[in-house]
Amino acid sequence: MRVESVDLIYVAMPDVLPIGDGSQDALLVRVRAGGCEGWGQCEASPLACIAAYVTPLSHSACRPVGDAVLGAPIDGPADIAAITRRVRTESFDLLQAPHMLSGVDIALWDLLGRREGAPVWALLGAKRAYPKVAYASALFGSSPEQTEAIARRIRSQGFRAAKFGWGPYGTSAPVDRALVMAARDGLGPEVRLLIDAGTIFVTDVEAARARLDALIEARVEFFEEPFTTHALSAYRRLAAMAAVPLAAGEGSHDPEMAANLIEHDVRVIQIDAGRVGGITAAAEVATRARERSIRFVNHTFTTRLSLSASLQAMAGIEQFDLCEYPLEPSEMATAITDDVFGVNAAGLIEFPDAPGLGVSMNAAAVERYRVPVEITVGGRRLTGGSP
Ligand SMILES: [Mg+2]
Repeated sequence: MRVESVDLIYVAMPDVLPIGDGSQDALLVRVRAGGCEGWGQCEASPLACIAAYVTPLSHSACRPVGDAVLGAPIDGPADIAAITRRVRTESFDLLQAPHMLSGVDIALWDLLGRREGAPVWALLGAKRAYPKVAYASALFGSSPEQTEAIARRIRSQGFRAAKFGWGPYGTSAPVDRALVMAARDGLGPEVRLLIDAGTIFVTDVEAARARLDALIEARVEFFEEPFTTHALSAYRRLAAMAAVPLAAGEGSHDPEMAANLIEHDVRVIQIDAGRVGGITAAAEVATRARERSIRFVNHTFTTRLSLSASLQAMAGIEQFDLCEYPLEPSEMATAITDDVFGVNAAGLIEFPDAPGLGVSMNAAAVERYRVPVEITVGGRRLTGGSP
């Protein structure tokens, strides 16, 4: 069969706020082929991704992503890999191409799984999907008191691990210490604590170093993204002085970026299937991480569709036992799918046996939050998908 249609659907909350919450809008990708349908999601600016899909050709290495997708054969994983190769070689001057490819790749895996009646992790070769310890992923409160209250709530919900990040973190070493200690106080001594600096120190190793003592004192299990994804030497320098493992990788746009982080002493590689090039690329990183005894953790902060996509590459690998679980996605992100990934009484999430990504879209909710997009160039309409 061949890819017959690709619809790009922009959904958003009525008001998108300048906070570290990536669930306020989304670009959904719906593919159809041979009577089957699959859904994916890009983790990036929806309109920038749409542009990458439809933009007119600039030159031979700057083609629209859509050129590699529509009409392409899609009978098995090798066909998805062929689309990936084509986008990487024919669209590499188009910086949003990996994000756009990610949504397409995820949708194609979902479609193949639905056609085969098998979960995506099984198509990837896994014999079974191992339950994962869900870490509640939350933003710091605006004060230590608010942070402690959020942490208490997380503990009362039965989570065995929690991550706090963004918000006021990075203000000063004393403020950051108070935030981290408040998170620990609220979680109590048993719940595992992770801290996400949200790249706030950019490349400043000394600023990040000044935060380490508080992390040790609060028994933080990993320190995530003190620096931007490309700040490789900063990661290596901080790793040499830090007793807490460094985590990074959610900004990786291809497996090579993740590999570079691993080479520069990042010990927890965090991959977002909606950015890295899809499930195909995420699986490549997971394999590499396993070979190097590096921990692989999914990154996601948005819908259950995205959560499922981000988990597929690690589902069948038992030692990758910790997963990011968005605590309070936006109303839109919650509404547009069903919720098949509930956290059980043991603080674990289990994988549904349903085919594909195992997530059903709520068509009425998608329509409710859909923002129509029309791009016209020289009188020619470049967009035209409808849900
Ligand atoms: Mg993060």
